Amino acid sequence: MRVADGAESRGWALGCTCGKCRRRIVLFRDSGNGRGPIEAPLRGEFGFACPYCSSDNTINTRELVRFQLDSGAQTDGGLAA
Ligand SMILES: [Zn+2]
Repeated sequence: MRVADGAESRGWALGCTCGKCRRRIVLFRDSGNGRGPIEAPLRGEFGFACPYCSSDNTINTRELVRFQLDSGAQTDGGLAA
């Protein structure tokens, strides 16, 4: 059995880019860990405020993108409770 050291701590996220400040916003944890279809816990459109610039964004879950979190670097954001 081979375990890639550090891979566990990175994790994947689902999110989008803020329409105003263009920063990457983490909205959900990716339950698929970077594999398989993107599965969001919600469907359809929802709104949220950007954690960086407080701008109101509306996104459809079909527009979510998946990205890998840098280890420890950008885990402060995130709206997932
Ligand atoms: Zn923003």
